[in-house]
Amino acid sequence: MRGQFLSSRSRLRLPAIASALLLAAAGGTRAAEAAPPLYLDPGQPVEARVADLLGRMTLDEKLALVHADSKFTTAALPRLGIPRRWMSDGPHGVREDVGPDTFVPEGKTDDFSTYLPVAIALAATWDPDAAHAYGDVIGDEARARGKDIMLGPGVNIQRTPLGGRTFEFLGEDPLLAARMAVSYIRAVQAHDVASCIKHFAANNQETERGSIDVEMDERTLREIYLPAFEAAVKEAHVWAVMGAYNLLRGEHCCHNAYLLDGILKGEWGFPGLVMSDWNGTHDTRQAVLNGLDLEMGTNKPYDDYYLARPFKEGLEQGVYPMAALDEKVRRNLRVMFATHVLDGRPPGALNTPAHQAAARRVAEEAIVLLKNDGATLPLDPARLTSIAVIGDNATRLQAHGGGSTTMKAFYEVSPLEGILRRVGDHVNVTYSPGYREHGAPDLIERAVAAAKAADVAIVVGGLNHRGGFDSEGVDRKDLKLPYGQDELIRRVAAANPQTIVVLVSGSPVEMGGWLGQVPAVVEAWYGGMEGGNALARVLFGDVNPSGKLPCTFPVRLEDTPTYAGGADAYPGVNGVEHYSEGLLVGYRWYDAKAIAPLFPFGFGLSYTTFAYSNLHVVSGADPSALVATVQFDLANTGARAGAEVAEVYVHPASPSLPRPVRELKGFQKVFLQPGEKRTVTVALDARAFAYYDPARRAWVAEQGAFTIAVGGSSRDLPLQGDFQLPRTLEMPVAGGK
Ligand code: BGC
Repeated sequence: MRGQFLSSRSRLRLPAIASALLLAAAGGTRAAEAAPPLYLDPGQPVEARVADLLGRMTLDEKLALVHADSKFTTAALPRLGIPRRWMSDGPHGVREDVGPDTFVPEGKTDDFSTYLPVAIALAATWDPDAAHAYGDVIGDEARARGKDIMLGPGVNIQRTPLGGRTFEFLGEDPLLAARMAVSYIRAVQAHDVASCIKHFAANNQETERGSIDVEMDERTLREIYLPAFEAAVKEAHVWAVMGAYNLLRGEHCCHNAYLLDGILKGEWGFPGLVMSDWNGTHDTRQAVLNGLDLEMGTNKPYDDYYLARPFKEGLEQGVYPMAALDEKVRRNLRVMFATHVLDGRPPGALNTPAHQAAARRVAEEAIVLLKNDGATLPLDPARLTSIAVIGDNATRLQAHGGGSTTMKAFYEVSPLEGILRRVGDHVNVTYSPGYREHGAPDLIERAVAAAKAADVAIVVGGLNHRGGFDSEGVDRKDLKLPYGQDELIRRVAAANPQTIVVLVSGSPVEMGGWLGQVPAVVEAWYGGMEGGNALARVLFGDVNPSGKLPCTFPVRLEDTPTYAGGADAYPGVNGVEHYSEGLLVGYRWYDAKAIAPLFPFGFGLSYTTFAYSNLHVVSGADPSALVATVQFDLANTGARAGAEVAEVYVHPASPSLPRPVRELKGFQKVFLQPGEKRTVTVALDARAFAYYDPARRAWVAEQGAFTIAVGGSSRDLPLQGDFQLPRTLEMPVAGGK
């Protein structure tokens, strides 16, 4: 049991709920004479409060806590003083309120919220402090909006860049996703709001997402797809986990005995609640017996939910033990007490300048400078008279789209607006759309004419949240830029050699047709409500870009990890899909197959330059905890202040079984003034060297030689050092099945 769950707050006076219940219980006598129920005493340990309350509940009250009574709530239990419990999407801010039985917005006027950059942008910051700032906004606004459980972060690993929800997740690497998720969750939960990590597990595509049956080997599951969840449970003590829509090895993930009872609760000791994805529950028996604690979003009347009347009938007929219900209720109550729902919580705040500053900070840190020949960027407004801004994404507002991540932003600064604000009246800025969803050749001509007439052309293109691009429910068909943008960029670049391409997207796109023709390319992602300001500050040099790619940008679709396995590997044949690429996900694939990516994982340029030197790999004092300390010097050798993400990869020299060429095992974002040099230290624990051995049910760090490689991207590792692990370390997984 985790510390957080046991701690309860001591309060000097009984909260309002307790006083009201006491008066009711006293029934005419003086309140002071009635003993308060233990569960209302914030000074009692969480487990004691759970046990006390559980003992007072009727069967119907218990059942009410394990299934929804509207799209995003469970029922209040007024007799016990338990309020309605509110959940909300999602990962990028607190979603607008929808009607009770529908996803259609209620049209309220008090549910505008801070719209943060999308999760893949957060991952591109490679900055756990930024993730903390991000989670802090979500927790604070969730309180202000009266939400108890926030449905995020989403940490499904990017298996194919075609995945429609790629933008919503934290990239292709388990360590990066884990580090960002842990910071995010800690910050959310510090506000007495439960974070619900999702989607557990192997929910890596939208095609047939509710019925696809995923088959993968155990090492791949453990080494690639589970670590972010594991870190969220063990390090961040996340209070809720959402099951995935798909099946794993023949069983739906929302009631998958191996995943939920075996690994999550058994091995990792997760004490919180497992909820289903919306309409992800399919069977009463499995829902009762396989670790689901809360059923949400089933497309049935609430009383007909699998964990409602059918469960009740099974209990009454003795088909299911009462202990199964009690265990689910206990977990729901534990989360309720751990988040102080009955104790009076801080009120939270909505749409504050501090939240907007956090949104801008993350957006700025996320922007990745992909190409910058001849120091085209940053632009100097004092030396420009005219800029042609071109492209639909220069003016498109992105908050409202993408599926369940949709936001009702308090405001949203578009790229064009950000540029206009930044340059003021000194520069003549023109705008032409250049392309449109349903084709319009004259738009290209007009854009070309505008580009010709200007000092600089900035094409703001990419994708959008329309179905089929960065959107829930549908995968992309290819990696191409839609709406004829390739031709537009080629023509604009031919008209004006000073053409800068800004990509607004949540996933990689091909650039083969034009990359060689333009001097500068920026990946800006969907930057949230402050995205336009952040972009302008990078383009004009107020901010030195420091984002790095959290996923490989391939040259072409044919190079991607799932392509070689054909339909059997993606999107599946006859409802089954084999993850035949195994561990070789993301850069692990490109490295193993010696395929040159367009831009590698971890890549991103800066307006300054950095030099790495002086690598030392020192053995840890206690090899079971800390195996090695990696130390090196990092210097800013250019003329501008800036931040560099230093990446540490581990490569086993002669492993006894196949392993990826190199794997990210540590990183640090370091801010340096011009000329400044700092010694950076990255600690590597035993897991950094280990593989998962299913036969031994253990993580094994094998004795022998490893190479530690350090640098600014997975393909630019100037420092290489040898490290010898003196003996094999075996770390068995505890419990489980
Ligand atoms: C998504 C979840 C989301 C839920 C509620 C589902 O379709 O997969 O991520 O939290 O809807 O909106």
